Amino acid sequence: MTQETATRYPLVMVPGMLGFVRLVLYPYWFGIVKRLRQGGAKVFPVMVSPVNSTEVRGEQLLLLIEQILRETGAAKVNLIGHSQGALTGRYAAAKRPDLVASVTSVAGPNHGSELADHLERHYAKDSLKGRAVDMIVRVIAKLMVLLETGYRGPRLPVDLDASHQSLTTQGVALFNRSYPQGLPDTWGGQGAELVNGVRYYSWSGILQPGRTDRGFNRIDGSSRSCRLFARSFTREVGQCDGMVGRFSSHLGTVIGDDYPLDHFDIVNQSLGLVGKGADPVRLFVEHAARLKAAGL
Ligand code: CA
Repeated sequence: MTQETATRYPLVMVPGMLGFVRLVLYPYWFGIVKRLRQGGAKVFPVMVSPVNSTEVRGEQLLLLIEQILRETGAAKVNLIGHSQGALTGRYAAAKRPDLVASVTSVAGPNHGSELADHLERHYAKDSLKGRAVDMIVRVIAKLMVLLETGYRGPRLPVDLDASHQSLTTQGVALFNRSYPQGLPDTWGGQGAELVNGVRYYSWSGILQPGRTDRGFNRIDGSSRSCRLFARSFTREVGQCDGMVGRFSSHLGTVIGDDYPLDHFDIVNQSLGLVGKGADPVRLFVEHAARLKAAGL
């Protein structure tokens, strides 16, 4: 067995909003956890409240980190978060930098999501449309609890409004004031690589007509949704993955911000159906090798 992904510290994978570990047989990190384990990594795909504020999710993550450290005897963990999972990881690292070797943001809305802004403007929570969205998300969240087979633990609290506020540009700006670690000083720049002993990294993708809408994404509904969501962007027009803008995703060392991957492709969803020539799993393998080389 090769040891290319055998990092010193365990890899803790933190899902985004409406995240899960495994729905029946279907894992969130489709093909990724398996591949990282094949390369020798200790990998823990964890579960936090699928719909809640970054702070609530972050506190839950801190408890999980302590549990993983007890189980493995490791001194620290490497956090890899997708979407809101990136903010969740940032919160945990800011609170307990002594327990975290690195935070990696994969398509993380580190400066907010323009899609969340759009929903706030056009689907206010007391409007009819807003209540409809609220109901849909609650039903999805309930269904997911029923189908979840990878998580065993107490029932996780749901707060849709807090979740939403944690993803808007304004909400994340507020979060960033308290937890600025790893953020770039300038829009589109890179952040400090090392803060309080924690290394920060990020990568993300953008929709690229002719690539992200080809290959298997032709038959992938989530990909179609991303193309629709992208129309709500006004600041990073044509420079987003459907849910998060290219520059909004920047944190620490920016490994890449224009991979031909939509917001779901980037974690190899759905079922590994990605655009033409895309290879999201390779990015995780390369990153584990990068962490390993850095002694993390
Ligand atoms: Ca896809």
